[in-house]
Amino acid sequence: MNRTSETDTTSKPKIGQKGLIFKEPLVFEMGSPGRKAYSLPKSDVPHTKLETLLPPDEIRQEIRNFPELSELEVVRHYTRLSQWNFSIDTNFYPLGSCTMKYNPRINEDMARLPGLAQHHPYTPETFSQGSLQLLFELQEYLKEVSGMDHVTLQPAAGAHGEFAGILMIHAYFEAQGRQRKKVLLPDSAHGTNPASCALCGYEVVALPSNDQGLIDPEKVRELMDEDTAAIMLTNPNTLGMFEKDILEITKIVHDKGGFVYCDGANLNAVVGIAKMGQMGVDVLHFNLHKTFSTPHGGGGPGAGPVGIKKILEPYLPTPVVEHKESRYSLNYDRPQSIGRLKAFYGNFGVLVRAYTYIRTLGKEGIRKVAESAVLNANYIKASLKEDYHLPFPGPSLHECVFNDKYQNKQGVKTLDIAKALIDEGFHPPTIYFPLIVKGALMVEPTDSESKETLDEFIEAMKTIARQTEENPDALHEAPQLPKVTRVDEAKAARHPVLRWKSED
Ligand SMILES: *Cc1c(COP(=O)(O)O)cnc(C)c1O
Repeated sequence: MNRTSETDTTSKPKIGQKGLIFKEPLVFEMGSPGRKAYSLPKSDVPHTKLETLLPPDEIRQEIRNFPELSELEVVRHYTRLSQWNFSIDTNFYPLGSCTMKYNPRINEDMARLPGLAQHHPYTPETFSQGSLQLLFELQEYLKEVSGMDHVTLQPAAGAHGEFAGILMIHAYFEAQGRQRKKVLLPDSAHGTNPASCALCGYEVVALPSNDQGLIDPEKVRELMDEDTAAIMLTNPNTLGMFEKDILEITKIVHDKGGFVYCDGANLNAVVGIAKMGQMGVDVLHFNLHKTFSTPHGGGGPGAGPVGIKKILEPYLPTPVVEHKESRYSLNYDRPQSIGRLKAFYGNFGVLVRAYTYIRTLGKEGIRKVAESAVLNANYIKASLKEDYHLPFPGPSLHECVFNDKYQNKQGVKTLDIAKALIDEGFHPPTIYFPLIVKGALMVEPTDSESKETLDEFIEAMKTIARQTEENPDALHEAPQLPKVTRVDEAKAARHPVLRWKSED
């Protein structure tokens, strides 16, 4: 893959991995009896039998065939295993809705500065002024980017931010003495949205998207009433489309005394260009691990700060980071607060990365993020629109949603296309989401990727479209190149094998 053949002078060498697989046995099949990964000086403590010190059930039984390896063997084994995985550092990772963008190394350097990484969360405020200043300034930057009046950095993820935001809305109606019952949710919403509403005791009312994939203001007018606490929308929505009637929608909701919650997972499309606060949004969560870099995936830590309008300020989670008379402090004395949501003050390391990202890009750089993200997605969309069906062909921003309609005629499904991409050296995009698109393939290239990478991805997608015509059966067998080929996903989910068992 990395070499061009000598006769082929036209094509550029391609970057990426294809069939780069190390042979790797199980760790239990490796090593040799008595081999150790440590060397310690001979102990001068007299030998004592464990049985004289511990009750029998506290003593570990010998594990038969327990692997005995040197340190180098262990390091190589796990390093090789780690390379069976896709990662942003090795491949293009076009998952839609997740914004798998590159995390600049300077973010990691800053998060590892000893003064930040080793700062104990119980250190008194007087000795924590630097860390508190960082938190306070990050709040200010997020306010500026979003047009919101206050920001809390506590929630640990987007879903946690949704929960915090809806709880604040709930607390508001509680304080008014009349709780509302429902929340309106477009049918294209991410699954965490209805879950957050249900956790706060609200009934979810589905709002059907119109034939352009957008919210229909007339539908909102029909369903919005004084028993409805809020509308929870995503803008741009999960089809990557900007809700062009946002001003009308927010007015309808406000006229009935409701709140507008915006799921900000797609802010990568609008940062530095448009402010949700100016569109009538009252609550907005940010996914710092999507819009403001920070590595994510695999359940790693994230952060889901929430921006709110002034009216919800009494309900902010405690403690609130404040800056008064050139001192930074944490305010716990807030009687109407929804309380604490997270140990200490949020996932501090993630907040340092987002702070660094914003400071290194600056105002102009942040705007360029959105411009490049939108340009990249539209380049892919335009390049593949003949090969893959676009169920909602209208203008879209930072991601584009295709489906398998054209390939279906040959019996090739979205799952086959996704698996075939692995053989082509790419991580599959998000599939079968949003739910309103049958057989969805949702591609988000992000701002990080170069035109060369996008061209290779487009070429791979075109190859798969061609294979669909020429040899559709082969696609049912994809992927063939990786160590693990096509798995029975239902079986893998229902009967996972999580523990190695000795043969005997
Ligand atoms: C990712 C995402 C969420 C949930 O965010 P997490 O940080 O994964 O909890 C919510 N809504 C949308 C649209 C998303 O893409």
